[in-house]
Amino acid sequence: MDGNRKIAVELEDGITVESVFYGSGTLCLSSQAGCPLGCAFCASGRTFFRNLNLEELWAQVERARALGCDFRRLTLSGSGEPLLNWEVTRAFLAECRERGLELSLTTTGRPLERLEELLRLPHNGLMLSLHAGSAATYRRILPEGPGLEELWATLGRIWPGLSRRSRRRVGINYLLFSGLNDTAAELEELARRMASFPEATLHLLRYNPVGLASFVSPEEERRQEIYRALRAQLPHVRRGNRWRGQCEGGCGTLLAAKSR
Ligand code: SF4
Repeated sequence: MDGNRKIAVELEDGITVESVFYGSGTLCLSSQAGCPLGCAFCASGRTFFRNLNLEELWAQVERARALGCDFRRLTLSGSGEPLLNWEVTRAFLAECRERGLELSLTTTGRPLERLEELLRLPHNGLMLSLHAGSAATYRRILPEGPGLEELWATLGRIWPGLSRRSRRRVGINYLLFSGLNDTAAELEELARRMASFPEATLHLLRYNPVGLASFVSPEEERRQEIYRALRAQLPHVRRGNRWRGQCEGGCGTLLAAKSR
């Protein structure tokens, strides 16, 4: 398989959720059918039906297996905020460990008490969606997120108690939006904040358009420029791999629908 593959799974009540198998060997699963947080750039957040149960998370894994997807790791980064489906997320994390499956997660950090709990649990990667340097820009992008100041404060409180290994597994996700969060002021503030968390990795991600005209990715040249500038200031900066840039996948592109 040389590209990404979106996989639709129909649930017993007629709701269909999507997963995506990335050509890199990662299977991305949804934790909710739609998402109640409605981040401004995200197609998944246009609708919300309900939380998924544990069996429905495993059903996505089994469906991918049945289709011959040869995944090596799982990520709970599709539709939904995993911390809003906390008991299921925690149980899934534990079961993945029992089965020897690597699981990473992507979260806005809401609610923050759950984020604190998750940071202390064993996982294979915890990506925190920030997408802004200033609190005002953050609110435009993640109107229902826990708040930028609150997130940095929570990380600052937890960080000293985490092992170096756990700290290295924390990532900050930053989707680049032209003219919104790619300005010098936003990026300077981001770098200033991240300097307090030197083991964390900044992931600069390209935005895949989902039909929301107000959000546009900067051109490749500008993305390169931003990457180089941040690399000069922070120890761990990465760009999204080529699989995340394909239209069949990427942040905010998975959908949920109800047929009956
Ligand atoms: S980006 Fe994540 S948290 Fe935000 S609406 Fe989309 S699925 Fe929900």
